[in-house]
Amino acid sequence: MFYIIAGVFCMLKNLRGRAWGNALLSVFIMLSACGVAFLNVYGQGSTKAGEGASGPIFTFELPVIVIDAGHGGADSGAVGVNGMLEKDINLKLATFLSREFESAGYKVVMTRTDDVMLVDADGVHSTKKSSDLTARAKIAGEGDIFISIHMNKFSEEKYKGAQVYYSVNDPTSASLAEMLQRGIAESLQTDNKRAIKSGDGLYLLDRVRCPAVIVECGFLSNWEEAARLMDEEYLKQMAFEIFSATDDFVIERMSTDT
Ligand SMILES: [Zn+2]
Repeated sequence: MFYIIAGVFCMLKNLRGRAWGNALLSVFIMLSACGVAFLNVYGQGSTKAGEGASGPIFTFELPVIVIDAGHGGADSGAVGVNGMLEKDINLKLATFLSREFESAGYKVVMTRTDDVMLVDADGVHSTKKSSDLTARAKIAGEGDIFISIHMNKFSEEKYKGAQVYYSVNDPTSASLAEMLQRGIAESLQTDNKRAIKSGDGLYLLDRVRCPAVIVECGFLSNWEEAARLMDEEYLKQMAFEIFSATDDFVIERMSTDT
């Protein structure tokens, strides 16, 4: 049954992304799954006493996704060449991303939904940033997959393109990062030749135990990219690609776990 549902999700998503080849593959997965389900119902799959054809054969739960919109409040993050603040783009993109996951049936936890820093009620100003990160790490622990959204900046204007960092705590983080890096490059940044990077030493990625990534979506120090990141349609497409690659990762993991 999982494969049937996965196939339906996959097909709808790929049709939306106009990836007809993948959509046909999804139909194939579903047809194969129907065969597997038939064998499980009527074959050897449910022969235990008390387990009739009416009982569940496979059960699965979609993972809880924690989406972290980097920075916020007094911490604006990078400032773009056009004056835009990283914290605002991060939140906008994170919000679009949460909608994508929710409409596909995932439970989403956001580290912030407003322009704020995460601090304890009695947080001292000098330790605000560290309190903020501690609070984010705590929220990250509530989920099964952690995606942190950031924008990049460099002293030279010429650099551009998304880059994904992965946590070394979970061995599958790198595959998730790879799928995200490829998905974004293939659909939105065809000249992006960047490779994924280890996030060893990065505070949040060091503390999260589940598959975890930081997606640096583009350089605010590059005029062309900064302009694109101001465009809501572009951010929606970016959100869709991040969702889509993560969803593929989930389907792949569930099918190997089952
Ligand atoms: Zn940042």
